[in-house]
Amino acid sequence: MLNLVLFGPPGAGKGTQSKKLIDKYGLIHLSTGDLLRAEIAEGTELGLEAKKLMDHGKLVPDEVVIGMISHKLDANKDAKGFIFDGFPRTVTQAEELDELLNSKGAPICCMIALEVNDNELEHRLLLRGKDSGRSDDANPEVIRKRIKEYNDKTAPVADFYKGQSKFNSINGIGSVDEIFAAICAIVEKYLK
Ligand code: AMP
Repeated sequence: MLNLVLFGPPGAGKGTQSKKLIDKYGLIHLSTGDLLRAEIAEGTELGLEAKKLMDHGKLVPDEVVIGMISHKLDANKDAKGFIFDGFPRTVTQAEELDELLNSKGAPICCMIALEVNDNELEHRLLLRGKDSGRSDDANPEVIRKRIKEYNDKTAPVADFYKGQSKFNSINGIGSVDEIFAAICAIVEKYLK
């Protein structure tokens, strides 16, 4: 199985690159942000609770997203592999993901981190907010809170994968195709 973590701050381009990776490698995309937005759209209790945190740029509790991921892994037993997008976002989530995947004998192959500076992220997210319809993209204060949550709680996840020699970093500023080519070069290394 090819299990990848696509890592980076909000606005780094993880969603865009995930779509291209799915097409090329036939992987299943697991975005906890998308799963949470689907819960909100369905009006579930989980969705309503998560929305309160998401609208303030805060992370939802670890057990909520781990539960969603575990359910999706079980529902896709024959998958060729998964792209984890926006997950894990805390070291606890990374540890729990390791446990889930190790029990299936299909650990994470690598983390690919898209590096983009904070000014560029703010600019991209405000632009995306104009047509994404996402309330957390439109508001500069919420955007800055999301970037702060990333720097405080999510950035340490990179060290977790560095410790396992699975960390790869690429420049997330450039054309979509250039960045995709850089990602594919790393993926191919792990496929060999
Ligand atoms: P995203 O679509 O990945 O930018 O996620 C949007 C929002 O959903 C985040 O700002 C968090 O509030 C929440 N969220 C998504 N994934 C996670 C996660 N793995 N852990 C905690 N909160 C998450």
